[in-house]
Amino acid sequence: MEPEQFTISLSGDPLDRLDALRKKPDAIIKLQNHPDAVFVIVRNDQILTDDQGMLVLVSAEILQQLNDDNPDILFLGVEHKSRRPWFAIAVEPGINDDLFDAMGRFLSLREGLALLPANDLAIAGRIISLANWHSLNRFCGCCGAPSQLAGGGEKRICNSCEAEHFPRVDPAVIMMVIDDNHCLLGRNASWPAGRYSTLAGFVEPGESLEEACRREVMEEAGIRVGKVSYAFSQPWPFPHSLMIGMVATALSSQITLEDELEDAHWFTREEVKLILAGKHPDVLPPFDHTASGLLLRNWVTKDQDYAPV
Ligand SMILES: [Zn+2]
Repeated sequence: MEPEQFTISLSGDPLDRLDALRKKPDAIIKLQNHPDAVFVIVRNDQILTDDQGMLVLVSAEILQQLNDDNPDILFLGVEHKSRRPWFAIAVEPGINDDLFDAMGRFLSLREGLALLPANDLAIAGRIISLANWHSLNRFCGCCGAPSQLAGGGEKRICNSCEAEHFPRVDPAVIMMVIDDNHCLLGRNASWPAGRYSTLAGFVEPGESLEEACRREVMEEAGIRVGKVSYAFSQPWPFPHSLMIGMVATALSSQITLEDELEDAHWFTREEVKLILAGKHPDVLPPFDHTASGLLLRNWVTKDQDYAPV
């Protein structure tokens, strides 16, 4: 029996990425000129959408209309059944604005979280993350010479020393810290009143996920953590993180706040149910699509402390 499909927001890109084909530049150009090829437009970390809240898909003719000789063109893959090729073009602000503004509205990914259908959201997140990385990595980190996009956008190659550079993904742990019937939530001073979340932080060089989880919880709340288990992961393209959801068992309960958090509390399962229902008097419900919300929902809806999604 097939396992139940469960898609986490910003994952589930429906395209076949055709990794093997990316070594053949001619094959990518051929797909680019395919009469059915579609192009998604990205500008300044924003994606072009129509008034229905869908990605605007333009044809290859758009390439002739651009006042830009060498835009970054990202090959996204092909649709599984129809084999229709998908690309993205990263356009510069201020050059073709009239052309694109007549087609729709540029949407940030945060706006897209609420508006885009799941498949479009996954594709948009991937495009924005990749386009952002290319725009910030025009020069080789080894020798400083200009580099060029290769493999349909899967990497850059230095024009001088030929070093290959690949898009980065920054792992971050986000953890549900549990002490019997309580879980730990905290808030940053900069957040709106009532906003609380599971604790989170970036993995540092030389750390396992478990070590990163224990360090972050100790740094932020002074709580010692023992057993740590993996729950799920979520691409978080703001601009290129990977959120790694973890469940951690607390070995101590006395909260000690340092600089990072303004407040942290232990919440009972009953309180978390109220938070999720938007009925807690002091705490806002988590944003849809977030790893924090998913961790909380899992905790209160499963018979055990944690079950994988
Ligand atoms: Zn180089």
